[in-house]
Amino acid sequence: MNPFIELGIRHDIVNAITELGFETPTPIQEQAVPVLLAGSNDFVGLAQTGTGKTAAFGLPLLELLDFSQKHPQALILCPTRELCLQISKDIEKYAKNLPDVHVVAVYGGANISDQLRQIRRGVQIVVATPGRMLDIIGRKAIDFSNVRYVVLDEADEMLNMGFQEDINNILSTTPEEKKTWLFSATMPTEVRRIAKKYMTDPFELTMGTKNTGNANIEHHYYVVRARDKYPAFKRIVDSNPEIFGIVFCRTKIETQEIAEALIKDGYNADSLHGDLSQQQRDKVMKRYRERSLQLLIATDVAARGIDVNDVTHVINYSLPDELENYTHRSGRTARAGKTGISISLVNLKELGKIRQIEKGIGKPFVKMEVPKGEAVVEKQLFALINKVHDVAVNDDHIDRYLPQIMESFADLSKEEIIKRFTSLEFNRFLEYYQNAPDLNVDANEARGGERKGKADRFGRDSYRSDYTRLFINLGSVDDFSRGDILGYICNATQISGKAIGKIDLKGVYTFFEVENTSVDKVFSGFQNVDFNGRTVRVENAGEGHGEGRGEKRSRSFRHGGESGNGNRRKREHNGGGFRGGYSGKRREKSGW
Ligand code: AMP
Repeated sequence: MNPFIELGIRHDIVNAITELGFETPTPIQEQAVPVLLAGSNDFVGLAQTGTGKTAAFGLPLLELLDFSQKHPQALILCPTRELCLQISKDIEKYAKNLPDVHVVAVYGGANISDQLRQIRRGVQIVVATPGRMLDIIGRKAIDFSNVRYVVLDEADEMLNMGFQEDINNILSTTPEEKKTWLFSATMPTEVRRIAKKYMTDPFELTMGTKNTGNANIEHHYYVVRARDKYPAFKRIVDSNPEIFGIVFCRTKIETQEIAEALIKDGYNADSLHGDLSQQQRDKVMKRYRERSLQLLIATDVAARGIDVNDVTHVINYSLPDELENYTHRSGRTARAGKTGISISLVNLKELGKIRQIEKGIGKPFVKMEVPKGEAVVEKQLFALINKVHDVAVNDDHIDRYLPQIMESFADLSKEEIIKRFTSLEFNRFLEYYQNAPDLNVDANEARGGERKGKADRFGRDSYRSDYTRLFINLGSVDDFSRGDILGYICNATQISGKAIGKIDLKGVYTFFEVENTSVDKVFSGFQNVDFNGRTVRVENAGEGHGEGRGEKRSRSFRHGGESGNGNRRKREHNGGGFRGGYSGKRREKSGW
């Protein structure tokens, strides 16, 4: 017998989930479904995303609700729009063969009138994010007086996002006697508190121990210097040619900068953060889901609720401040029974944090060595060979060109031809990694200052960059937008806008990139220039961009504080809100 039938799920639903590939229940389904089907208990399930918990509560709901009635009987609250859409779509799929099941997804950032119309037409299951739900309740557009089940999904996330009061208000409109089912990946005291507040004697189910991540995730860490972080990160990516990953940064700015640097370096990457409009976020997510993107660079908040299967790696470009966030981040991989790797890039000072996470998740981390250039090249080479071996050949189209192709290769042996095809792609990597230094911290220590000035604040290798990063003491407080300051610089220096790269507009100052060949023009253009009675100052902000401009470097500062000059400048800029960025001088905030 189908094991879902044994759990008490009817044939019509089992047929639908069989089509989705659900053959055997996941552990949480196996344990939660019989309890929830009884319909008489409050319930607390401690489970990661990716464990099959949507079906664990979705299937029992479909069994318990009366679909001949058209009023809301179940309310599912979840933290994000993505999750809201995911849950409602999943439940609709499970209910494919059932008549009269109506599910509505209620979330912010979308047209409210469509959602109101669906509610008016009659729905039994409401899946909602708290903010929009409260809005609709405020309009008296929904009646929850007959709600029998409330599901709080990713309860820890909802609390993290500050939805506590909204949840209180929403639940106050539902009947006392309803049953509440709470799911959470972690069980901080806040979640315990709401469990206590809303539930009587709940049935508790723990999949794994408290805060323990998915057993299918391996946790790796690499120790690198702050300035080597970006090249080390690229090496790790390059040595995993099939990577399909999510890269976590701590801030929106970092997210954007890493994504921009990667795109510039030819990677298939894009960023996901809170400053993007909903439309932009949807677009990025669509590309990622379709695998047109290989690397998604995200902040914790933006990545909440991301449910993409087959993510091979989660990379903590910066460690999160909270242990809970580490569990959430790493839980984006190894979903649906797959395996995955969670990588953390840390400096020596952050090793303590790794130990703390190990304790928290109850699993050891494995220390890894940043691959040497040669190893990366080898990985890429064999990935290429596999690709050539497995490529689908379109005989119909290629056949007619074959005689001519054969003729062109007539003078070459099989070995020669293979060598040449392989070299087409391979040369790029060979060239890039030729003489590439060892990026592991011990090796760095041994090398001393040898690499000083070889990388910018991303740790981006200068041999990849034709730009110099400059500082100017004008910024948004002077009413400049990025476009304005671009125009202003071009005007003052007579260089083309094309010669200017990334512009990082801050409050009282701005960093901007200029092609190395135009740097002199910028310096001379800004000699004796005033802006609103203030002398305009332009200085070199990078760490050794543009080799061979020794004379200019004497006026430069390094915000990593690596030279005396640098320390002086850094102090000045700290006062103006200078962000430590990648200098390794960032004040560590420890929430653990
Ligand atoms: P969830 O934890 O609900 O987000 O589910 C994670 C993924 O596992 C989703 O893609 C589900 O479609 C899939 N899934 C859930 N239950 C099963 C099952 N019993 N067998 C196979 N896949 C499942």
